[in-house]
Amino acid sequence: MDLFDLTSSQVDSLSRDLPVVLPVAAIEQHASHLPLATDSILLNEVVQRSKRSCSEHALFLPLMWLGNSHHHLDFCGTLSAPPRVWMDLLSGLIDNMLHHGFNRLLVINGHGGNCVPISQVLFEQRQKNRDREELMLLSATYWTLGDLPCNNNDPSDHNEWVQHEMGHACEWETSMMLAISTNKVGDYLDLPDVPMKPSYERAERAWVTQDRSENGYIGSPRHATEAKGEVLLDTFSNGLAELIIQISEREMTTW
Ligand SMILES: [Zn+2]
Repeated sequence: MDLFDLTSSQVDSLSRDLPVVLPVAAIEQHASHLPLATDSILLNEVVQRSKRSCSEHALFLPLMWLGNSHHHLDFCGTLSAPPRVWMDLLSGLIDNMLHHGFNRLLVINGHGGNCVPISQVLFEQRQKNRDREELMLLSATYWTLGDLPCNNNDPSDHNEWVQHEMGHACEWETSMMLAISTNKVGDYLDLPDVPMKPSYERAERAWVTQDRSENGYIGSPRHATEAKGEVLLDTFSNGLAELIIQISEREMTTW
């Protein structure tokens, strides 16, 4: 069910053990072939598809479109909250739901730059609320959910996958956008591949987008197809639905 559509008393009548799902994404540049809202559009699609099998197992909050996207700010149109402001905003939203008495919360993320701040916010919330033994604070990034054919060598899958993980405005994101609406996707078939892996594989290097990509994408958008997009969206939304049902059924005392 969606908080957006309920009255205050309807929310008040819900079990406080019902998982609260908070989707967070971004509005940021996605090269010359995808819209700024790509991350928000894709996460929204994954969440909506997941509701086909789990809508009664969770209370869904509206998607938060403002993300931690400073690394894309040199590309026009990118919107980004300063990282610590963004963390305070997310933490404040979580405060609201904890104040209303909800015990289980899943932040479902649709943007790479949000991963670290989400983890820190949830870590701090757990310390702040250390006496609430029943609290279950979780986060997941949607493209890690489910079991993709490109990673399990499913012989029934006839797509020729190039990427095995998420890039940016890449094979995966372009494919999913094609599956949602081909007219949201500009020219992508002639874009040369941009390597996914940094050269310092054993160290984490801080970056701004133009360190890695002149045109704003990372990966292989020219290999995108609508069929791949359907596989990706189905895999991720099924994975999300499974996770939400698991959270709703889990014993609080189980680690
Ligand atoms: Zn993206």
